[in-house]
Amino acid sequence: MTAPMIVGDPSLPETVTIYEVGPRDGLQNEAAIVPLAAKVEFITRLIGAGLPIVEATSFVHPTWVPQLADAADLVALLPLSGATPLPVLVPNERGLDRALDAGCRHVAIFGSATESFAQKNLHASLDSQFAMFEPVVGRAREAGVDVRAYVSMCFGDPWEGPVPIDQVVSVGTRLLDLGASQLSIGDTIGVGTAAHVAELIGAFATAGVGVERLAMHFHDTYGQALANAYAALRLGITTFDASAGGLGGCPYAVSATGNLATEDLVWMLTGLGIQHGVDLDALVRTSVWMSGVLGKQPASAVVRALS
Ligand code: MG
Repeated sequence: MTAPMIVGDPSLPETVTIYEVGPRDGLQNEAAIVPLAAKVEFITRLIGAGLPIVEATSFVHPTWVPQLADAADLVALLPLSGATPLPVLVPNERGLDRALDAGCRHVAIFGSATESFAQKNLHASLDSQFAMFEPVVGRAREAGVDVRAYVSMCFGDPWEGPVPIDQVVSVGTRLLDLGASQLSIGDTIGVGTAAHVAELIGAFATAGVGVERLAMHFHDTYGQALANAYAALRLGITTFDASAGGLGGCPYAVSATGNLATEDLVWMLTGLGIQHGVDLDALVRTSVWMSGVLGKQPASAVVRALS
């Protein structure tokens, strides 16, 4: 079979938006530098496969992520004014300056739900990250640029262990209050389970943040990503982050699997009768091609089953 039998469930959303993170979140975890031309082809093929939004790169300092040091050159070769938004990550004001200079219309900031990860990844305290992001979001909004906010370590932290739900909700609402249009709730180390997902979404609702402002960003490190996505779907979440081929290992665990694979998500959504607009065959061909570029097997179960 090359597609699941469709058995719909009227209690689930009719349409889901897949936010493709492979070129940024996927590639930034790959050690071997991917040539610029291959990155352009990757993004072009993802757009062609029907992904409605593709995060292209990060304007992080090249010292931290050498893989994405070509961000400005890459963006210059992309159709920024096309129908598919191509957001870029901006870690700070310097990154925002570079993104605005490059003509980007959509940016994302990357916050932390925990003190340890804020210190290690942002070189800021949990509380001082908001002062750091405030001018980034403010200046982006002034320039008419949309801002998405990621929150990482929402379901567990490699240094701290469990992360209190109210702490995640506090960080998330403060990032939204800065002016972000959408919050992407990240299970950065993939440890969350389904009822935890439901509890967290419920806590955001209680705090006045509805499902229409939330996206879920699951990792498959412990094999929980699709179960967690299904739990979120049942509560009405309609935006899911995913990475073509499951690209991107987990930098905080010795594991081949990182991001939820876009193909695995597409297979589930198709079977559930949920519209997503993605051509699975074209996407699988893209991931198989990219696995050749990287010289490694795709992590996605669906890509392996279909190729
Ligand atoms: Mg990720």
